[in-house]
Amino acid sequence: AMSLVRRSICSPIKCRSHPNPILLHQYSSLQHPSKQSPRSQDAQHEFSLYFHYPYCNKLCPYCAFNKFQRDRSQNPSDFQLLSAYECSLSKISQSSWYNNEIKGYPPNLRSVFFGGGTPSLGSPKMYEKLIGHILETFGDRTDEINSPDSISDAVERNPTGETLSKSRCANVEISMEMNPTLATPTTLKDMKLAGINRMSIGIQSLRDDDLKFLGREHSGKQALDILERAIKEYDGRVSADLMFGTPSHHKSLDAFVEDSLRPILETGVRHISLYELTIQKGTPFHKLYFHDKAHIMDDEQLASLYEACIELCREYGLYQYEVSNFAASPQDECRHNIAYWQGIDYIGLGPGAHSRLSNNDHTSRMEMVQFAKPEDWHFESTTDSPVHSKMNELVNWGGNSKITPISPKQRLNELVMVALRMPRVGLSLQKLRQHTNDSQASFFNNQYVNYSRIQDLIKEGLLNVVEDSGDLHLRATERGIKVLNGVLNEILLD
Ligand code: SF4
Repeated sequence: AMSLVRRSICSPIKCRSHPNPILLHQYSSLQHPSKQSPRSQDAQHEFSLYFHYPYCNKLCPYCAFNKFQRDRSQNPSDFQLLSAYECSLSKISQSSWYNNEIKGYPPNLRSVFFGGGTPSLGSPKMYEKLIGHILETFGDRTDEINSPDSISDAVERNPTGETLSKSRCANVEISMEMNPTLATPTTLKDMKLAGINRMSIGIQSLRDDDLKFLGREHSGKQALDILERAIKEYDGRVSADLMFGTPSHHKSLDAFVEDSLRPILETGVRHISLYELTIQKGTPFHKLYFHDKAHIMDDEQLASLYEACIELCREYGLYQYEVSNFAASPQDECRHNIAYWQGIDYIGLGPGAHSRLSNNDHTSRMEMVQFAKPEDWHFESTTDSPVHSKMNELVNWGGNSKITPISPKQRLNELVMVALRMPRVGLSLQKLRQHTNDSQASFFNNQYVNYSRIQDLIKEGLLNVVEDSGDLHLRATERGIKVLNGVLNEILLD
């Protein structure tokens, strides 16, 4: 929780839509978004797909993700992974959830993300086949209406997927995490031809001492070179992912701000993700540094470093759209991550991947976790009989080790926590009503939040309610985002 406060330190947010703050007494007189027709609300029903690639070349000592060192003799091959992913996709496309048996139309695919592990270890051929399969199964149906044969035509015209990436998935963001160690100009090109249209480069730092400390195998120069090439190859649809809080940053903030962040911004990159190094249980770093606080920056240092980063990003035209993320324009924001922060349904496929999705009439929400060991996940995903069909009528694609209903309270907590991370969007009243299945819900009268504290925090200038595009939004103010964790503690009930 503390890290949320740490990462919440920020400077003023540029609001491009210039919404007007409204006063509380005006609140009840506004037309509520629930007055829109249910069809128009549901037409926005979207989902995202996440693919977990579980292998890494070498394991980093700070990493707490579910990952396995690549051992080609024991682990499933790329094409076995592909068959498991494809089996799951077919089952999803036949599920009652996807086919929306209540209303009769399936949700739109919003984004696809290949994460890991190290997904860039996978072969471009595997991704080409997988992306082709995804788009055939879930692609933008507008194309089908205009030209029913557009997918097969595109595949035939260009088996590399280039045509697909340009025509078929123009609106579907397809991102991949790229480790600079494995990236070559050819890999970048091949992944683009396979259909990837956004690259997220795991740079972490440009200083070789930081990279050595983090157990990374690439140099700063290598990372910068790949970033520059990726920006050209992907027409600017690239994120540089950085990590701060290493011993060198502890000695001097400039070790991060001037040595890593500024040269990266100089490349003209249009998206940056900044994460703090956290020492997590179960990692080699936890054993090494848990008792050695000298290696962990204190809160004041972190706050100063974070403010300096925000200032520098702003100097280069990147604004903070989420506590850890910066973009040059709304088109550069990561659509996939926004799905998480906006409570949009997402399905994670792969060992240990999570899914969260609502049933067709939004009356309940489920969390699913897939089997964490690649072999178990592979076996369960490729077997015909659904594993948990009796437990859950919503899903029948199997490969899940656990399916848990999310209680209304957990659901609201999730929605509030993630939505307030986005200072320019905040918590939408329309979403609140949809997710609580309560057409009368407001920011100030529901049983799961401390509504009197919301009113106090509005008076204290930490939260505000603004009207934007016919909807009301509860947002953290510039001051509020700096102490977001405290704000959340105040308003969420145990
Ligand atoms: S490459 Fe990424 S997923 Fe693999 S061990 Fe390092 S941080 Fe973890």
